[in-house]
Amino acid sequence: MSDRSNEHYFTRAKQSIPGGVNSPVRAYGSVGGTPRFLVGAQGAYVTDTEGREYVDLVASWGPAILGHTHPEVLEAVQQAAARGLSFGASTPGETELAELVRERVSVGDAHPIGKLRMVSTGTEATMTAIRLARGYTGRDLLVKFAGHYHGHSDSLLAEAGSGVATLSMPGSAGITAETAAQTLVLPYNDLDAVRAAFDEHGPRIAAVIVESAAANMGVLAPQRGFNRSLSEITRRNGSLLIVDEVLTGFRVGPAGWWGLEAANVVPDGGGWQPDLITFGKVIGGGLPLAALGGRTEVMDYLAPLGPVYQAGTLSGNPVAVAAGTATLRLATPAVYETLDAVADQLSVAVSDALSAEGVEHSVQRAGSLFSFAFTPTAPLNYDDVRAQQAWRYPPFFHAMLDAGVNLPPSVFEAWFVTAAHDETAVSRILDALPAAAKAAAA
Ligand code: PLP
Repeated sequence: MSDRSNEHYFTRAKQSIPGGVNSPVRAYGSVGGTPRFLVGAQGAYVTDTEGREYVDLVASWGPAILGHTHPEVLEAVQQAAARGLSFGASTPGETELAELVRERVSVGDAHPIGKLRMVSTGTEATMTAIRLARGYTGRDLLVKFAGHYHGHSDSLLAEAGSGVATLSMPGSAGITAETAAQTLVLPYNDLDAVRAAFDEHGPRIAAVIVESAAANMGVLAPQRGFNRSLSEITRRNGSLLIVDEVLTGFRVGPAGWWGLEAANVVPDGGGWQPDLITFGKVIGGGLPLAALGGRTEVMDYLAPLGPVYQAGTLSGNPVAVAAGTATLRLATPAVYETLDAVADQLSVAVSDALSAEGVEHSVQRAGSLFSFAFTPTAPLNYDDVRAQQAWRYPPFFHAMLDAGVNLPPSVFEAWFVTAAHDETAVSRILDALPAAAKAAAA
């Protein structure tokens, strides 16, 4: 085994890092084989320790909408780093980014972001949003949907998507029964279940948290009007609606999935606003930055103005803020048109290849996010997604990897395109599809 091989690095990593990884899905547990250890990422491509280049459809799990290491983002980062890596004090850049986000996440007269607080990870953003909702309402219960992933804070791991789904875990050890009992988990896209939960527990429900369009059990867009109904139900009952746009925010459109609904790009979508929205991934342009924002009256419950505590040594880190600001400024409408066009082309091509081999599947789309479920009919919720022939994915994944295409190593993850996926990159993916579809059919 060459000492630059992926296998060498994996073996070594396992001796000093649990499972050899710092985030479970990276271990390839559900697809098998040796994870690729990456040493470079440029445009639409990533390179491993063996010098092999792959067309990348992971995009760092979302942030890299412009393509990896965009030269202008890199320059902004280098300049910020040269001025100082971290100050532990306020910077002008934070206000500039907050203003930019407020402006971008506005559609017509709707301005859901009154104020914004920056943190370092999506997990922190949703965890803080929940604490804030509890502090603001004085209530204890939280409603979430099965298969939705909101990061790994204790109250949010029940029946979660992403790595928890990939590992088929019902939740996580280490969470007290009391904490688990404060989260009500409901089936997605089921308004009757939401109404029933409010009928039974309404005065105790602080918030409903929902991925604006689910993308951590594969992609699963909400039924028409679902988010708006959640907004009506929570408002009527005096609880808050937390819309988690960590994954969809600034990726599916300039104002995220909420923006697509508000602008009626999603049919029958408009006419509602979240109380709180969480952001991550794209907002940091590939560096650790996330945020929560929402109604000023609610946001002002955060310390130092209000009684709900939240803080962070590296919150609003100047280098991350520079990366995020540069990324958002470069994410013009033309970028979103490219993402949509590439997603159209690839999702149709994968579907055609699978159909040509007689593999039953459903194409799952939410804006430029897409994935495939090996089911004959479109899934509506986590139970449907789990009932698919998931065993077809590992051979498909490995055939693509062998042909130089890096897909998410789990059937429960979205595929991420970037604006750097040009004709050359796309045709490399298209060329790999027939053999991969054949492998999935076997
Ligand atoms: N919320 C959603 C919708 C996510 O997809 C994720 C991560 O994938 C998170 C929250 C957690 O973000 P982070 O991994 O930055 O903690």
